[in-house]
Amino acid sequence: MTEQPGQKASVEKLADLIASTDLITVFSGAGMSTESGIPDYRSPDGIWSRMQPITYQQFVSDEAARLEDWRRRFIMNDDFAIAQPNQGYGCIDTLYKRGQLHGIITQNIDGLHKRGRVSGERIVELHGNATFGRCLECSRAMELEAVRGVIERTGACPRCESCGGLVKVAVISFGQNLDPAALQRAAQWSADCELFLVLGSSLVVEPAASLPRLAASQGATLAIINREHTPLDNLAACIVRGSIGSAFTQAVSMAS
Ligand code: NAD
Repeated sequence: MTEQPGQKASVEKLADLIASTDLITVFSGAGMSTESGIPDYRSPDGIWSRMQPITYQQFVSDEAARLEDWRRRFIMNDDFAIAQPNQGYGCIDTLYKRGQLHGIITQNIDGLHKRGRVSGERIVELHGNATFGRCLECSRAMELEAVRGVIERTGACPRCESCGGLVKVAVISFGQNLDPAALQRAAQWSADCELFLVLGSSLVVEPAASLPRLAASQGATLAIINREHTPLDNLAACIVRGSIGSAFTQAVSMAS
């Protein structure tokens, strides 16, 4: 992406904000992983331009919807498996090593944050993780390869080996509630950070998008790196309209 007018000043401002605190909460969205080759949803060539989501209610009530959901998950997971954490993830590792990272709240389901150096205890995957399955009744985990094997052998979706419940990929679908414990931890890290840094999110998916509002209302400084406008730009002290790979890398290195 070409550098936008005023971007240099915005990156310098972000560097100053980063340098001035050891309490940074990172809030990432699908834009965090586009530079790892994983498409986002709402960019013009994003996933929603090609297919409609399958809701939780459709999944639990209709075997055909379940089979279609798994078919898409396997394709998506093959992309996730070959993706490598990009420069932006490296910058978060740097903040962590410098002792500046309070926590990572991610809307992403690709598991890439967990492949960096940040301890898993500092990461909340608000929308779950698409790299494994989980029983909807007893929460027993199931490897995706095992799910794929059952579908290939039987033509039907797998049932939990422990309780017979439906197995679904361990992500939050449209129409499904977020894990209350994950949401509570995310709200805590939003309320008690000094800098709330949004990386690559359109900030339209709720309740996730309420977290930057919460942070700002509790006195945190809000900064956003996103290629496009977001509905919360008016709350931000710093907006960098560029790509995370270059802008975040510059800001983190200037802040050292
Ligand atoms: P979104 O698709 O709504 O918005 C992504 C935003 O990132 C866009 O505004 C886009 O302009 C921006 N962007 C894309 N690449 C960028 C880059 N390199 N640098 C800076 N900005 C960039 O994504 P969202 O807000 O996360 O919400 C969509 C939902 O999609 C989330 O719930 C998430 O779970 C899910 N999702 C996850 C993945 C993943 O895990 N990688 C991929 C697609 C969608």
